[in-house]
Amino acid sequence: EAPGTEQELTDGFHLVIDALKLNGIDTVYGVPGIPITDLGRMAQAAGIRVLSFRHEQNAGYAASIAGFLTKRPGVCLTVSAPGFLNGLTALAHATTNCFPMILVSGSSEREIVDLQQGDYEEMDQLAIAKPLCKAAFRVLHAQDIGIGLARAIRAAVSGRPGGVYLDLPAKLFSQVMNADAGQKSLVKVIDAAPEQIPSPSSVKRALDVLKSAKRPLIILGKGAAYAQADEAIKNFVEKSGVPFLPMSMAKGLLPDLHPQCAGAARSTVLKDADVVMLIGARLNWLLSHGKGKTWGEAPKKFIQVDIEPKEMDSNVEIVAPVVGDIGSCVSAFLDAMGANWSAAPSDWLATVAKKRDDNVAKMAPKLMSNASPMDYHGALGALRAIIAERPDTIFVNEGANTLDLARGVVDMHKPRKRLDVGTWGVMGIGMGYSIAAAVETGLPVLAVEGDSAFGFSGMEVETICRYKLPICIVIFNNDGIYRGTDVNVAGDDPATTVFVKGSRYDKMMEAFGGVGVNATSPDELKRAVNAALDSGKPTLINAVIDPAAGSESGRIGNLNPQSVLKKK
Ligand code: ADP
Ligand code: MG
Repeated sequence: EAPGTEQELTDGFHLVIDALKLNGIDTVYGVPGIPITDLGRMAQAAGIRVLSFRHEQNAGYAASIAGFLTKRPGVCLTVSAPGFLNGLTALAHATTNCFPMILVSGSSEREIVDLQQGDYEEMDQLAIAKPLCKAAFRVLHAQDIGIGLARAIRAAVSGRPGGVYLDLPAKLFSQVMNADAGQKSLVKVIDAAPEQIPSPSSVKRALDVLKSAKRPLIILGKGAAYAQADEAIKNFVEKSGVPFLPMSMAKGLLPDLHPQCAGAARSTVLKDADVVMLIGARLNWLLSHGKGKTWGEAPKKFIQVDIEPKEMDSNVEIVAPVVGDIGSCVSAFLDAMGANWSAAPSDWLATVAKKRDDNVAKMAPKLMSNASPMDYHGALGALRAIIAERPDTIFVNEGANTLDLARGVVDMHKPRKRLDVGTWGVMGIGMGYSIAAAVETGLPVLAVEGDSAFGFSGMEVETICRYKLPICIVIFNNDGIYRGTDVNVAGDDPATTVFVKGSRYDKMMEAFGGVGVNATSPDELKRAVNAALDSGKPTLINAVIDPAAGSESGRIGNLNPQSVLKKK
C-alpha cells in the first residue's frame, strides 16, 4: 500500500461506544470482567460515566430506575453467564415494572456455545433472556452494532416501556472495519417513543362515564409518574374535582397534602366509589385485582388510561378503555371537558376529606413519640418532618413494616421522589436505586431500609463511598426479618428470621470512609439525617428499632399460606 492510502479503522469496542453516545446514553451501570472490561475502560475514557458496582443485580436495578426517572433506557453492562444471570433479575424487574432498560452482556463464542462444547462461561444467554424481557437481540457483525442498539432503544421506550436484552459476543469487540463505513452504520434513533394519541371516541366515552358518577375516584399509578406529564395531570385532576389515590410511586405527582388527595382514606374510597378512573395503574394484586372485599359491594365502573391495549379487562371489565400515552390522553380529556365541566359532587369530596382528616389526626400522636428504642411511628415521624422541609430529596424505601408504614406516614410533595419495591414487592432494590437516583438527578437521596432488605444490596455502600454520592441510608434495625423476637424451639441455631442482635450497620460505612451514626431515639435520628443531607457525605445511620415492633410481612401478612397442621 502506498503511504497515505492506509485505511482509518474502527472496531466493535468503538462502535458500541459511539452508538451509545450518538443516542445520548451518557451513563452505564455495570460490573467489569471478561469480555467487557476494556469496553468499560474505553467508554469511561470516551466521556461516558461508567459506574462500577459490586454485584450485577444492583447495577441492573440502578439501570432500571434510571429508565424510570429519565424516560431513556438505563443501561447495565455485565459479563457472561453468571454476571448475565445476576443482571437478568433486574431486567425482568424492569419489564414487570414497565421501566425502559437495556441489559448489555458479553457472551462466549457462538460456535462453541451452540455445540455445547464447554466454553468459558458458556451459556445460551439470548434464549434464556427472551421470555423474561420485552425483546432480545444479538449482534454478530460490527457493521450491525448501530442497528442493534437502535432496535434495543426503540423496544425499551416505545409503547409500554420494558427491559431489552442485547447480546454482544466477545469476538464482536475486536472486529475491525473501515472507520467511515463504521460511522455511517450508526443509527441515531428519531422519536423513539412517539406520541400515542387516544381515539376521540374513547375520550368521549370515558368522560361520559366520569360525568355520570356520584362517587368518582382517580387512581394514579407509576405509569403516570413515568409519563412526565405532571402539569396536565394536575390540571385534569383539579378540573375534574375528583378525589385521587396515588399508588406508591405516584405519591407526590400531586402533593399528598392536596385537598383532593384520598391517600389516608384509601379503604373508604375503594369501597364506596362508583366510578374509578385508572391512570397508569394496573388492577393487579396491589389493587386486589379490582374485586373482592377491598372493593365493597356497590357496583363499580372502571375507566382505564394506559398505553398498553392488552392491559384492558385484565382483571375486571373496563367500560371505558382509553389507549394512548398519558400525556396525550390527559390533554385530550382537558380539551374535551371544555369550559363548563361541572366538578364531582361536593358531598362525596367532603365525605372523603373528613375520613382522611380523621385518620391523619388518629395517627398524629404516634408520630410524636420520642421513645427509645424507637418504634416505627416515632422514627418515621422524624423522617416525615425532614422530607416536608426538603421536598426535593429522593426517598428510596424497602422492607416490610419499614415499607408499608413509611408509605403511609411520609408525605411526598413532588413527582418521582418516591422510589420503592414496585410491582413485585421485591427486596434488594435499595442501594442500586439510591445510586442511580443520585447520579441521574444530582439530588440528595434518603434511603429508608429494613435491616433485612438492606442485606440484599448492602455491599454497594462501598460503591456509594467510592463515588462520594449524596446518599443517606437509614437502617431500621429491629434485629431481623419482620421482627427480631422469634425463637427456635428445636435447637441451638437462631430462629430463621432473626439476625445478630444489636448489629451495628453504621460501622460498615466507616470501613469505606463514609459517616456512620448509631441513633437510638427519633431526636438523634433527625439530627443525623439533617447533618447527612446538609453535608452530602455518604452516611449510614443505624436506627435502633424495638425488635418487638411491627408485624409479620407488614401489611401483606395475608399472603402467607397457612398450615392447618401447624402446632400452636
Ligand atoms: P402502579 O404499580 O403504580 O399501580 P403499574 O406499574 O401497575 O403502576 O402500572 C403502570 C401502567 O402504566 C402500566 O400498565 C403501563 O403500561 C402504563 N404506562 C407506562 N408508561 C405509560 C405512558 N407513558 N402512557 C400511558 N401508560 C403508561
Ligand atoms: Mg427487620
